[in-house]
Amino acid sequence: MQKKTEALEKMYRDLAEKERGYRARALKMFPHVCGSCGREFSGKGLKELTVHHKNHDHDHNPPDGSNWELLCIYCHDNEHEKHKMKGYGGGAEKGFQAGGFTAFEGLDALFPTAGKEDNEG
Ligand SMILES: [Zn+2]
Ligand SMILES: [Zn+2]
Repeated sequence: MQKKTEALEKMYRDLAEKERGYRARALKMFPHVCGSCGREFSGKGLKELTVHHKNHDHDHNPPDGSNWELLCIYCHDNEHEKHKMKGYGGGAEKGFQAGGFTAFEGLDALFPTAGKEDNEG
């Protein structure tokens, strides 16, 4: 039992160290600016700037930083959402937008009726 816990703790430690390692390197290598929204970070705010792996493989950390991108936590979230959506098939991004427009047209048709009923009642 003891050994299992130790192994687990070591794993977490290694993971944390690895994360600290490439983050520190990326922060040294790149300007402290979000690569997506362009916000600048310094001091305490710097913890909101995270390292994104362009190929989404956290074990792929080339020393030249070619797989890293500094993103704020919000843009980082977006980036991963986009990545998830792409999983639904090729050209999913365009398909997703078209779906949104259809939904809005549907809403538009509903509103006039609802408005009239409100006035009369
Ligand atoms: Zn950002
Ligand atoms: Zn990422």
